[in-house]
Amino acid sequence: MEKYQKKFTDCKGNECNVTWLRIKGNRPGPVLSIVAGQHGMEHVGPGLLPEFAEEMAAGDFAGELRICANANPFALLMDYEFYPEKEDLSKIKDYYYSIFRHNYCPWGLGRDNAQTLYNMNRLWQREGDHGVAGRITAWLWQEMIEGSHIVLDLHGHQHPALIYSGAGTDFVLSAMPGIPKLEMENPDPDNWSAGDLTHQAYLAGMKSLCFEFSVQHARGEFEFEEGKNYLRNIMKGIRMLEGEIIHDHDVWKVPFDPAEDRKGFVYAEHTGRIRFFKKQNDEVQKGDLLFVIRDVETGEVLQEGRAPRWGIVGTLPHIVITKPGMFCTYVPIPELLLKAGTPAAKYEENWWLK
Ligand SMILES: [Zn+2]
Repeated sequence: MEKYQKKFTDCKGNECNVTWLRIKGNRPGPVLSIVAGQHGMEHVGPGLLPEFAEEMAAGDFAGELRICANANPFALLMDYEFYPEKEDLSKIKDYYYSIFRHNYCPWGLGRDNAQTLYNMNRLWQREGDHGVAGRITAWLWQEMIEGSHIVLDLHGHQHPALIYSGAGTDFVLSAMPGIPKLEMENPDPDNWSAGDLTHQAYLAGMKSLCFEFSVQHARGEFEFEEGKNYLRNIMKGIRMLEGEIIHDHDVWKVPFDPAEDRKGFVYAEHTGRIRFFKKQNDEVQKGDLLFVIRDVETGEVLQEGRAPRWGIVGTLPHIVITKPGMFCTYVPIPELLLKAGTPAAKYEENWWLK
């Protein structure tokens, strides 16, 4: 295992080290790069990658692995999506971020109201000076990402098991890991979104996938093994590890169609406490009970939220207390990408030589 490290200094003189590892297999094969920890509240990828690197270094595989577990140490130490480098950091005092204050930001740069270029995953291959996060992406791109055949970018959503992909989606690759849903993104992203790692890797001729799994603002140890298994499955499919890939659940694909998705939205009609009866990606029939909202003072049921149509359960909110008009969840209409129990297709032998 070879370790590469560089010290970065922010505009106020604070320092951090960014580290990536190169692990060479014992026979020829593709180069697989895995990045985690771009967003500071998504800790499961950063947590599991050092263990995964040790496992692979002790084992037997083809090709070369490049792993950066903690791409954005400043943001990870804050447990916040990005590092607000130029803001008055004393404003946060002893006030910590949490899953329940997910959209809050003391500098008015919350997730819902600012497309900030502090966000590391918007800075890949972007022209200009974008602070310490931009210098980290430039270094990682040049030293680690360039020359890769496949790039995986590990993120975390509020609930396990999401995978996004936009332009150049490789459906064979997408079915390999075992994440239950491939959620397609806009194949023609705006300038801000175009700076994400998987899109830039795609433009540079690599295959790429963005993983969204595991909770945010939390440790999520229960997902360490699941996450490592996603990575082993990909390594089997791209001929770095031996073995078949068989999932015990269906894998769905949700086409990029925001207008169609909106037809499946379900909203709160009352102020109250919400409790869900389905998990994200569960298949539901029209009329199935999705959630109940109960009155906070009396405990009485105020609303039963039901599936408006057949589909799978989309994202679930992280809040507990609802207000009238609040988005609760939605039911997108998916297509089946891979049936449970059916072996996932693998790339052909020596595919990386072509
Ligand atoms: Zn993220």
